[in-house]
Order: sequence, then C-alpha cells, then structure tokens
Amino acid sequence: MSEQMICIGCGGTIQTEDETKIGYAPPSALEKDPIICQRCFRLKHYNEVQDVSLTDDDFLNILHGIGQADGLVVKIVDIFDFNGSWLPGLHRFVGKKDVLLVGNKVDLLPKSVKYEKVTRWMKQSARELGLQPRDVFLVSANKGYGIKEVMAAIDEYRNEKDVYVVGCTNVGKSTFINRIIKEATGKGNVITTSYFPGTTLDMIEIPLDDGSALYDTPGIINHHQMAHFVDKKDLKVITPKKEIKPKVYQLNEQQTLFFGGLARLDYVSGGRRPFVCYMSNELFIHRTKRDHADELYEKHLGELLQPPRKSYCEQLPPLVAHHFTLKEPKTDIVFSGLGWVTCHEPGAHVVAYAPKGVGVMLRRSLI
Ligand code: GDP
Repeated sequence: MSEQMICIGCGGTIQTEDETKIGYAPPSALEKDPIICQRCFRLKHYNEVQDVSLTDDDFLNILHGIGQADGLVVKIVDIFDFNGSWLPGLHRFVGKKDVLLVGNKVDLLPKSVKYEKVTRWMKQSARELGLQPRDVFLVSANKGYGIKEVMAAIDEYRNEKDVYVVGCTNVGKSTFINRIIKEATGKGNVITTSYFPGTTLDMIEIPLDDGSALYDTPGIINHHQMAHFVDKKDLKVITPKKEIKPKVYQLNEQQTLFFGGLARLDYVSGGRRPFVCYMSNELFIHRTKRDHADELYEKHLGELLQPPRKSYCEQLPPLVAHHFTLKEPKTDIVFSGLGWVTCHEPGAHVVAYAPKGVGVMLRRSLI
C-alpha cells in the first residue's frame, strides 16, 4: 500500500479527486517536494482563502471545538437564503459565547428595502431559531458594503480573544474573510493555518494585532439547499448576481407558476390576488392553468421549463407537494436557495412544490 501524503501546510491527507474537499492537490503538485495542498498553496502565495466542504461528522467536531474554545463567534448567513444557510445546531454549542450575526449579499435585495427593517427581522428570526446574537449586521462581501462596521464590532466584542467565523458553504464566507484580510492585514502579512483543538481539521488562522487570531472554519454543507440538487451551469442561473427585481403575478384561483422546472406554486383558493416573486432575474417563470400543470411539466421539463437542462433532468429528484394555508398577512413562501414568493393578504391556500429534499417553508415577510 502506498504511503499517505500529508500537506505540509495544514496537515490534511493529500488527495487528487475532489477539489472541494480537504487536502486536494492537482496531480502535478505531487511531483513537488514538499507537497502542499491547493488551498494552502493559494493561501501562501496569494493570501487568498479557498473554501473546502465537510461531512456532517466534521461539522459536529467543529461545533464541539468552538463550544470548548473561548472567543467570539461570527456567524455568516446568506440573506437571500436565510433559513437554508442558518446552521441549526450552532446555538446549542456556542453556550454563553457572544455571537455576531452577519447577513451577507445585501446587494441582492431591492434598493427600496430598508436595512433597519431587515436587521430587525434577522434579530427576531434568530431568536425564534434559538440564537440570541449580540448584534446583527448586513454586509456585501463582494461590494465591500458594511465590512468596516462589522470589523469594528468584532474588535469591540471579542475582548482581545479569538474570533471564529462560521457559515455554511456558499454564504460568501471566503469572500468575507478575503475582504477582512485585505482591510486588516495588508498584503505583506503571513497567514498561517492551524489545527482545530481536539480534531484533525485545519482552520485558517489570521493573526490579529494583540496575539489573538481570527479563525476561518471550513464551510458546512446544508443539505436542504437547492444548490445541491442542480449542476454548476444551472446553479449560475438560479444564483442571483445583481439586485433582484421582484416580479408580480396577479393570480386567479387554480393558476400555477413554474420556476423553471425546479419548483412550482399552485394557487388553490382565496380570490384573485398578487404574488410577488423574489428570485434570480435570470430564472424563467411560467404561468399556466393548474389543470394543465402536471402535463406541461411532464412534456416540457428541461425545455420550456428549465433549469434543469435536458441532460440533467434525470438526476433531479421528483417534485414534492407542500400544502399551506396562509394565515398571517405578509407571508413569504420560501424555496430554500431559490428565493421566495410574498403574499400580502392572509387567507390563500397554496401548494408549493420543490425537489424532494429541498426545504420549503413559510415565514414572516422579510421585505
Ligand atoms: P463560501 O462557500 O461561503 O466561502 O462562499 P464564497 O465566498 O465562495 O461565495 C459563494 C458565492 O457567493 C460566489 O459566487 C460569490 O461570488 C458569491 N458572493 C459572495 N459574497 C457576495 C455578496 O456580497 N453579494 C453577492 N451578490 N454574491 C456574493
């Protein structure tokens, strides 16, 4: 049996199969001595953090480690996919540690949205989900909005202790950390990696002025996000890149909206009313009669109704129906990772369809 190769940077076992997992190195790197994984290579040469994903056990190990460590936790969520990117178990592990909650990708929300209202909504939703953050921020890691404020808050709340940045994959954690590195350390500083206490998992360690460090924990996979059910090209279509332009549909009873071929909303009863869709501007929305919807889906999935593209249809799990009666005014019907549909008046009965395994839920309206 061949000997295991270890990265000299992070200590992870070198592998050449999966770029998204710990220890990945392109085959050409194996000829070099010493061997370094792609993630450490990029960190060393470009001061750039690259995300790797973890198994559920790794995730529990990380949470456990954070629970035992002393410091400030910065939890990043994707404001476009708040519930899908939430990390439900975190509050049980953080104990009495201070948590700052950071909603990233605020640039995607329509410009008319009041940020104070969104942060209030985040605070309340966090509390309902069992987490009491010390403070809540909205940022755009891409555009740089709000980063200085978060950095000031991190410095204030950490009390000269370490900082742990956590978040599930795709929330923009790497983009956020790379921004902080640029703002805080400048180019010349060396970033190191270190082992997480009690586990073999490495974390990126960014030294802070007073001898403490900011740790980037590996991204955690949340299985209920639509992102895990589509391929890369389709993911590009459903991931909004710019400010979302809400699309309003005045629906009669017994009408259906298809969101590409990935989700569907049947309006069953409640009188003619508007439904406001907040999804990627590039996602095609098709309206039809409910009577025709099943047949249309069967005939046109992968063509008129895409994503998914034709070649990927077979891998998409079947759509599952979720029945809801909207009892509160201003309710969002959320399709995890795809977006949401807002209904302003109570009393509608709807059926929301999403691929088996993708989270669908109601919440108080974000906007
Ligand atoms: P990670 O998996 O959490 O480390 O996420 P990445 O930093 O790799 O980002 C995931 C995706 O979100 C990429 O396509 C980024 O371009 C995008 N992204 C990151 N930050 C922002 C942001 O502030 N706004 C928007 N619109 N997209 C962002």
